[in-house]
Amino acid sequence: MNEPDDLPTLWSHEPHRQLAFQPGDKVADIDADATPGFRGSKSDAPTLQAERNKRFAQLQEKLYANSRAGDTRSVLLVLQGMDTAGKGGIVKHVVGSGNPQGIQYRSFGKPTAEELSHHYLWRIRKALPTPGHVGVFDRSHYEDVLIVRVHNLVPQDVWEPRYDEINAFEQELIDSGTSLVKVAMFVSLDEQKKRLAERLDRPDKYWKYNPADIDERLKWPAYQEAYQTMLDRTSTAQAPWHIVPCNRKWYSRLAVTELLIESLKRLNMSWPPPDFDVEAEKKRLARA
Ligand code: AMP
Ligand code: MG
Repeated sequence: MNEPDDLPTLWSHEPHRQLAFQPGDKVADIDADATPGFRGSKSDAPTLQAERNKRFAQLQEKLYANSRAGDTRSVLLVLQGMDTAGKGGIVKHVVGSGNPQGIQYRSFGKPTAEELSHHYLWRIRKALPTPGHVGVFDRSHYEDVLIVRVHNLVPQDVWEPRYDEINAFEQELIDSGTSLVKVAMFVSLDEQKKRLAERLDRPDKYWKYNPADIDERLKWPAYQEAYQTMLDRTSTAQAPWHIVPCNRKWYSRLAVTELLIESLKRLNMSWPPPDFDVEAEKKRLARA
């Protein structure tokens, strides 16, 4: 079976290294138009994306297949970004290329009354990927140090300890066999305006528009600050954040695909061996 493991030569640097948040990196300096590590162009993207989607799908299926043989590991993709950054596009065009049998998608919006009556990690724990699955969080527990902080939904002495608590929580996940792929998606203020305008121009996009998106947009500086602290405090060696510039959707999708492939490859999986005698079964089948 063809398993092209090598990073395509169109990448000059491995995205999981190139995009990893480094201490001292500043959100204010992120160029959302950039395409770090990629030396190809937009015209290379469709073919490459299709090729790498296949590779992702193969590895994802292998993870699932291994779980049927008792492997309890899983992968969790955490997507954070402002409205229009392209979280939904990653879900549709990247993760959507996998086998739905082994994908667990969950989006996190404003908590329900029931969710609010519990600890903020309660709804998160319930949504964690089960063995063999690639889980996707479209927003996540990080909302509890982003929108919650920006809107003062709880006082500082409540959100402040959450950074350490989240690190401990993620360590617990890693210890239990879940690999985390944390992706912070950055779109520029100008590009966001274009994307919101497009949503207002197209009846097939109204469903993505929410008048509250403008209110969040008006708080951009406060969000930048909240994202900065999130990255400073929760990008750990075991669960680093990756900074993905998102003004060019073709780039962000290629980059996240490589981050997923890399994470799956690190699991060093082979196809589970048969728990039956293949030759004997072939003979039985020929007679059946
Ligand atoms: P969307 O992802 O476009 O469907 O929007 C979901 C909205 O829910 C965003 O504005 C989020 O910031 C908001 N949200 C998600 N989690 C929380 C939370 N824990 N507390 C308050 N708002 C949240
Ligand atoms: Mg939205």
